[in-house]
Amino acid sequence: MNGWMGKILRVDLTTGEFEKIPTMDYAEKYLGGRGLASRLYWEQVKTETAAFDPGNRLIFMTGPLTAAGAQGGSRMSVSGKSPMAYPEGYCYGSLGGFFPAEVKMAGWDGIVLDGRADRPLFLVVEDESVSLKDAAHLWGKTACSTEDMIKKEHGHKARFVTTGPAGENLVRTATLYASHKGTVTAGFGAVMASKNLKAIVVRGTARPAAAYPERVKELAAYTRELKNTVSLAILPKIGMTGHGHLVEALGQRHCYQCALTCSKYVYRIGRNRDMTGLRGCQSMEYYLPWIYGQNEEIKTFFDAPELANDYSIGTFELGPMIEWLWDCYQKGVYTDDELGLPLSNTGSRGFLERLLRAISFREGFGDLLAEGMVRIRNRIKPEAAALFPRSVAPIGSTDGVPPRVYITHALIYPFEPRMHPIGVHEIDYLGIPWNVYQQDPSSPGLTPEHYLEIARKWWGSEEAADQTHYRGKATAARNIQNRTYLRDSLGLCDFVYPITYSFSRFGPVGDPDLEGKIFTAITGQPASDLDGYAERIFNMQRLIRVREGHQIPEDDYPPDFNFTEKFELSIHGTAMTMPGPEARPVDATGRVLDRNRFAEMLWEYYNLRGWNRCTGLPKPETLRKLGMDDLMDAVATMSESTGAIREDKGRQR
Ligand code: SF4
Repeated sequence: MNGWMGKILRVDLTTGEFEKIPTMDYAEKYLGGRGLASRLYWEQVKTETAAFDPGNRLIFMTGPLTAAGAQGGSRMSVSGKSPMAYPEGYCYGSLGGFFPAEVKMAGWDGIVLDGRADRPLFLVVEDESVSLKDAAHLWGKTACSTEDMIKKEHGHKARFVTTGPAGENLVRTATLYASHKGTVTAGFGAVMASKNLKAIVVRGTARPAAAYPERVKELAAYTRELKNTVSLAILPKIGMTGHGHLVEALGQRHCYQCALTCSKYVYRIGRNRDMTGLRGCQSMEYYLPWIYGQNEEIKTFFDAPELANDYSIGTFELGPMIEWLWDCYQKGVYTDDELGLPLSNTGSRGFLERLLRAISFREGFGDLLAEGMVRIRNRIKPEAAALFPRSVAPIGSTDGVPPRVYITHALIYPFEPRMHPIGVHEIDYLGIPWNVYQQDPSSPGLTPEHYLEIARKWWGSEEAADQTHYRGKATAARNIQNRTYLRDSLGLCDFVYPITYSFSRFGPVGDPDLEGKIFTAITGQPASDLDGYAERIFNMQRLIRVREGHQIPEDDYPPDFNFTEKFELSIHGTAMTMPGPEARPVDATGRVLDRNRFAEMLWEYYNLRGWNRCTGLPKPETLRKLGMDDLMDAVATMSESTGAIREDKGRQR
């Protein structure tokens, strides 16, 4: 058994008992990470179980490639019933840094939390030794203070995951906070705290074995060379605030065993040594004081991500929330006194700290905000609800990488419980070098010809590259989803894989077989096994979501505004171009999705998946082919109870 450690730790917090679950009982069909966790969730979390019930599970699961020598192999999936989902339902997140690797080095493929302790505890895993300890001294502390205390008690190399006051007070958007400033959304900080568990601390001394260690090293060197792509560290300069001149990327801060470039950088703000630290991507920019015309020190902008982490509130939720509150204030819908928040000082440090505290401790209006924006829509003034940004979604924000611009995304969005789905990065990231070339053909970028070659190799056809029509998009969406699910199940990083293009001697087109080669080198299994894993895992998540109320076909459509409102500007307020015929640029302004063409594309997609056109569920022969016969009865029951209604709905469309 190479890649896997062979056992999963189940902790029953109600009884204080520990159990070893043999990994391969699940991994043979569901691989690891998100795939394995989804199967455990299917078996163990009942539909009627609420997110904060002791019966919910919080599942931390590595993959066979986590910490096994692959570049970008730092990841684990975190899954469970999310209190942030609306209605509450299955969701997942991804965690990198050092915690996932340490879990494997301690000899475990994952940790499943179950039950609820009768007092605050924290879990300590040191190789085979597992214990629950009193956490009275940690409870009530912020996430960063907890980190300091853990390091003091367990050494600087102890890896941890914890949550701050928002988690303890069951704020639905509370995040998990982990070593190396990793965070996980979906409200899983509150789920962990609902079990009266403040933290998990891990130390390990083992190493995952590989089938062909020399080949793993070779592939790691090859990946390092191949991953010579546009640096995501420059994103703030070109994509977000337009204030990139204030942000300087100093150097990469790597996760375990990774030497690749991504947006996990040490940034310096305003050329100030006091404002130098690890930041990443969207979270770095969620609080933009200059937009609000404040004479605020730039340090507030620099500290904003750290403050959110410390209280443990997700920045994907905070960004649209602040935008909305400010809009309400400006339009006279809410006043400072009415909400007990200094809205008139939005953009200041005082406002941010007051807001974070009010939400985390559920004070005043903060108690309502702690329920998440989607849940309060009907509990606030209608004129306030009318000002909700279009991007508000239960988890994350819709329209980040818009389906109206990229038709392939119109199929990717509806199948995921969180927005925007990670799968959209495959096209999105590729748009960066394509855009670079469009703006300056003499600079290193991606020509339309190479873009088409990538479309053929990764998405199934050159047609898939052209976002002005619907042809080839069903296959492209299926391919992208399968690759995304595999990546999350293998333990690989989204910032790295797939490597579609390269400015190295191997480029400009990347290597579509890279993940398969690494999988074989580490596990010894043929890469051809991966297709079956991907289909099984995708179907497993489909069944979970349908069991929990996902309606077919209506919930397989992206939000209605995509069909009715013309696309104007990106969420960053900029115009967008998309690849059109021959991968040449086309202005996306004014785009809407066509409902009839979308329906045809959706049914083509059902067909590719081996799903029944009316029920949208896997056909018996599909389940049989995938070795998922044990789910036959469950699928039959789902089909019987709602199939006829779905047929009617199908006809209406
Ligand atoms: S690419 Fe970045 S986020 Fe991904 S594993 Fe490497 S250092 Fe971590």
